[in-house]
Amino acid sequence: MIASGIIFDIKHFALHDGPGIRTTVFFKGCPLNCGWCHNPEGYRPEIEKLKINRRIQNFEPEVVGRMVTVAEIMTEVGKDRIFYDESGGGITISGGEPLAQPEFLFELLIACRQENISTVIDTSGFTKLENFQRLAGLVDLYLYDLKIMDDNLHQRHTGVSNTQILNNLTWLAKNGEQLQIRVPLIPGITATKDNLTAIAAHVKSLDGGIGVALLPFNLLARDKFHKFNLPNKLTKMRTQSPETIERMGEPFRSLGIPVTSGG
Ligand code: SF4
Repeated sequence: MIASGIIFDIKHFALHDGPGIRTTVFFKGCPLNCGWCHNPEGYRPEIEKLKINRRIQNFEPEVVGRMVTVAEIMTEVGKDRIFYDESGGGITISGGEPLAQPEFLFELLIACRQENISTVIDTSGFTKLENFQRLAGLVDLYLYDLKIMDDNLHQRHTGVSNTQILNNLTWLAKNGEQLQIRVPLIPGITATKDNLTAIAAHVKSLDGGIGVALLPFNLLARDKFHKFNLPNKLTKMRTQSPETIERMGEPFRSLGIPVTSGG
């Protein structure tokens, strides 16, 4: 039994990570490497010591990540319980990629079930199918990212193939899991007419009347890339207007897929 894992943050009162008021736990480590990631502190699986500003001598490195037990997370989550009950909220497990620490995730979800706390997983979908199969009955809603349908482009922009992601999604839909597809709108990469049309066709082909949330591009990640001394590919990108975002929903609406923008 592995009742501990590495996280890099716990966010209280999250309003865009699933229904109601939620506590979002950010697992550290992700097998993808998306150039637009809002949480680059979640890339690497290990606890890191970062020299945030190399120009200042004797500057104390910032520690990113900490080892926690399931019991510690449940204590933290318990503080917000009153808000869950009133709003229909619960815990959301995000990252990084939650399924990159499958044993820790499994045990945390078991603990949430024992406490009757609603569970949401925010995932890239990139993991072995067995990891999803093991979670059957433990997850109330998956927030499931679909980024790029063309596999070559997917590999170029995320570092991995989308085959496993699409296969896992098919299994989850067939298995009756509750799903919301999330599409980050990255200018010129995911937010193209061809890609959004292809995602809409794929979602339509799945069982279960699955809805889609379009996540408008924002520049919050830019400062973080700088902070973590990572290559920043976002400098030339601009945020989208409400009219543009509305237009990007059209391929979904035209197929009768419920679509929202934002979290
Ligand atoms: S899958 Fe999500 S957490 Fe992982 S690198 Fe991409 S955007 Fe970041």
